[in-house]
Amino acid sequence: MALRKTKIVATLGPSSTSEEMLARMITAGVNVVRLNFSHGTAEAHIQRAETVRNIAAKLGRPVGVLCDLQGPKIRIGKFEQGKISLKTGDIFVLDADCELGDQYRVGLDYKTLPQEVSEGAILLLDDGRITMQVDRVKGHQIHCVVLNGGVLSNNKGINRQGGGLSADALTRKDREDIKTAVALEADYIAISFPKSASDVELARALVKEAGGSASVIAKIERAEAISELEAIIEASDAIMVARGDLGVEVGDAAVPGLQKRMIRMARAHNKLVITATQMMESMISSPIPTRAEVSDVANAVLDGTDAVMLSAETASGQYPLETVEAVHRVVVEAEKEYFSEHHAQKLGQVLVKTDEAVAAAAIYTAKHLKVKAIAALTQSGNAAQWLSRADAEVPIYALSPDKFARRKLTLHRGVYPYPIDQGNKNKDEILQEMEQVLLQQNAVVAGDLVLLTFGEPIGSPGGTNTLKIIKIGENRPVA
Ligand code: PGA
Ligand code: MN
Repeated sequence: MALRKTKIVATLGPSSTSEEMLARMITAGVNVVRLNFSHGTAEAHIQRAETVRNIAAKLGRPVGVLCDLQGPKIRIGKFEQGKISLKTGDIFVLDADCELGDQYRVGLDYKTLPQEVSEGAILLLDDGRITMQVDRVKGHQIHCVVLNGGVLSNNKGINRQGGGLSADALTRKDREDIKTAVALEADYIAISFPKSASDVELARALVKEAGGSASVIAKIERAEAISELEAIIEASDAIMVARGDLGVEVGDAAVPGLQKRMIRMARAHNKLVITATQMMESMISSPIPTRAEVSDVANAVLDGTDAVMLSAETASGQYPLETVEAVHRVVVEAEKEYFSEHHAQKLGQVLVKTDEAVAAAAIYTAKHLKVKAIAALTQSGNAAQWLSRADAEVPIYALSPDKFARRKLTLHRGVYPYPIDQGNKNKDEILQEMEQVLLQQNAVVAGDLVLLTFGEPIGSPGGTNTLKIIKIGENRPVA
């Protein structure tokens, strides 16, 4: 299978529960699985993570686990009949006190919504499929006029155009779910609807308090998050371009430009970025994508995203495997046309971090000396992250004795994590071992030029300070 740099995140659900399907999807290229905490019980998530890790171990492939918290998604309640049909011009009431909805009104799970909207506000239901305008607010009732009708069913989400609802980013359920995510040793925890850096900091503190070491992903999906973008990125390990809710809040037309801005900013801050939602939407019920979807996936790759994410396509669609195969195929092709501007941007800049400087030197050397690969000996994964941000054209093999570091590196563009046993070997023996790992993985053959980066003394995290050029097969330690 062709080497692919951009990673694939697949959401799991009923379509991807069987061990057989999971094995096929991982073999086809899934790098990270997403457990969606908007659905399912804690036990089911724990079970699922265990199954995935067992299969990954059997296949000898690293797979990351991303737990995505539900967040304060505001939802309507249920209807007596399960769903209703609204026509343009209908009067409809969102009523915080309503138990069971009917043709004229429905309940709300966010009881303070009536205090937060006023006359003229536009509300978007079910990801914008239905829109209504607030006519007046009467106590716990919001009287609306339907602008765009359609079928409205139980528990659909509500957004306000322009954003601005004050619901806290971390609900009580999210706080419980963080404990579950830590219990199943999540590699990544995504928080939904953060408004500010402090939301991300709070999530990080809760992860730490629960004893976890997961990286924190901020889903950018609120209008307010855009003006706080830089601070949110700084506070996070990664961001997600969460195009579904974001498009509802800021308008669909603003999303493509924001996607490019977010990817550029995340990378410039040495952070990771996932592009999500509706990437292969039609493949929920079709075995082939549309041309527009192919272009969308390819463009995310050309924008420089670390990963593309599949949602319903792999969770509840009819063609989960075909979707992963299609994404793989499209990404591999798009990467041939990716040209990094990283070097031009960095020229003249002063680098203050040693490991960043070594990464820059490795990238420069790799390009001009025409090496086959870069192998980074890394305890924490930092060295590989710098190499990835600097857009190495050749594969970055991240050799780490730490399984948690390796599992996190499943999300990084261009990075391929492998285990290495450092034992109590001396430096020369460890460099020899690096070469052995590359050979065993068929990453290189004798005679290939390869760059090694490592930190001396070997074994301390974050200390990459050395770049060595070797020819495979000629790196014999002095006896
Ligand atoms: P969701 O987040 O799928 O959890 O809603 C992604 C998005 O809003 O795009
Ligand atoms: Mn969302």
